[in-house]
Amino acid sequence: MKQHIHRNVTRMTTLLLIAVFIFSSFSITYAAPNIPQNIKVGLSFNNAANNNFIIKSAEGVKLSIKNNTGYLELLTYPAATGFKIRKDAYYNIVNNKEIEINYTRAGLYTGELDGPYHIQIGDVYPDYDSAKLIADSMASLSQTVFLAYENGWRVWAQLYLDESECLTQIEIFKNEMPNYTYTVVAPNKNRIQFFDSATGKLMYIINAEQEVKLEPVSTADKTGVIGFGTLTYRGSLFIKRIQEGHINVHNELPFEQYLYGVVPAEVPYSWHMEALKAQAVAARNYGILNIGRHTADGFDVCNGPHCQAYRGFGHENARTNQAVNETNGKLVLYNDKLIPTYFHSSSGGRTENSENIWTAVLPYIRSVDDKYGLGSPHDNWTKQFSKKEIQEKLLANKIDVGEIIDIVPLEVSDNGRVTNLEIRGTKGNTTLLKEKIRSIMGTSAIRSTWYKLSTDADLFVMNSISGKSETARAGSLYVMSANGMQKLSSSSNKVYVKDQFTVSSMNIIPENYVFNGKGWGHGLGMSQYGAKGMAEAGFNFVQILEHYYTGAKVK
Ligand SMILES: [Zn+2]
Repeated sequence: MKQHIHRNVTRMTTLLLIAVFIFSSFSITYAAPNIPQNIKVGLSFNNAANNNFIIKSAEGVKLSIKNNTGYLELLTYPAATGFKIRKDAYYNIVNNKEIEINYTRAGLYTGELDGPYHIQIGDVYPDYDSAKLIADSMASLSQTVFLAYENGWRVWAQLYLDESECLTQIEIFKNEMPNYTYTVVAPNKNRIQFFDSATGKLMYIINAEQEVKLEPVSTADKTGVIGFGTLTYRGSLFIKRIQEGHINVHNELPFEQYLYGVVPAEVPYSWHMEALKAQAVAARNYGILNIGRHTADGFDVCNGPHCQAYRGFGHENARTNQAVNETNGKLVLYNDKLIPTYFHSSSGGRTENSENIWTAVLPYIRSVDDKYGLGSPHDNWTKQFSKKEIQEKLLANKIDVGEIIDIVPLEVSDNGRVTNLEIRGTKGNTTLLKEKIRSIMGTSAIRSTWYKLSTDADLFVMNSISGKSETARAGSLYVMSANGMQKLSSSSNKVYVKDQFTVSSMNIIPENYVFNGKGWGHGLGMSQYGAKGMAEAGFNFVQILEHYYTGAKVK
């Protein structure tokens, strides 16, 4: 009996849990999408990272380092010229150019050498000021005495190449200042050097295994912005040394202010306000959904076309900021869910279904008319490649079909885009699906998959029934000869066509392929030139977005 009751209670609990689960999963799926407070945008990372750069702000820069509880403020550096920052590593300096090297003792170098060995003077100091006092007292002995932050403030000297250089210098220090202790600091691949960028003096070495935060100093009447390289940004910059490789730099700022830096990087600010607003809303959707693409890199989104172009504060414009502000909080929803608002420059007259470019059938990315986009500089384009150029690009992508004999579009979508392209070669054939040809040949060379292909081996053959002329490759034709019907041999390169007066030659195997195409980009979702055209024709941003995202609502 007791057992029975227990079983019932268990079943009740299970039912209750199922009910709670269903309820909570419902509320997660259909909750209004949240616009995040802040976003972290990668500016320099991985193999493309700039490892020697300047960070500055008009009123100075505040430095903090991440710890267990948040960020620990280290110092404020007031110089408007800011820091020159680089890794704590080996450098060969030739004609003022710092080249990072893999130093070997046996190597022959011209010019100056800097290394990641240092000398520590004393131990850990309780704060910045007491470390600074010691550093100042050592200044007469060495020009290269600086503060270091690594589990507390320290005083270090020199940029030496190895331990023996340190030991020799320690003997000199001991003679001059015997009341300090001196120890060798071995290299550590998490450290970053901060130089005063005006004087070139090394000021700090910071262990940046955890992020170092650099904030602009603001004044009562002006919110500071921070410069990285040639661009400036709202919010803060974060730098982190990735072991062995590079310094990652990202910018964290309020999400809506991120859009200020995106919209003018995507479309000209002089465009019609309703087109700018449509771009702002599309950028908001896309930005939210991109969050998480770069978690492994330590930030949310990158600043390039991979996520969405972002060029920071210096490229903002009052009109694009207005477009962001006037659409504040507006999103494109399909069945009340946030959708990826894919967009492209120009469709060429008609957008495409998602599955004809990628794989998923997205109900809101359907082919729609884009006549308002016509008149863009990308309506028509032509690109010619020699068969050798194509062969080389294929080989670079590990596709070896030998010498190219022919290229034939096997399948074309209802909207005219090539979805299956066969490349025939002396070693075999390969089929390139959808966007593959663009990624191989370059997305600005083959600007879209809406193209027709012609070659220098095209013959125009009159169809005896329809009377229309059709193109055909010479190599695929048969000729009537004295010996009967013969296929043109592809072992000879040319075919000669003779009329009453002249003999002209043409290739059997094409030497050159000409892509005659329309539009620029993948052709999915909103066409930016189409949005511009619709805005000029009197449509508002809601109408524009709902035209390009089938069945979606702007809310
Ligand atoms: Zn990205």
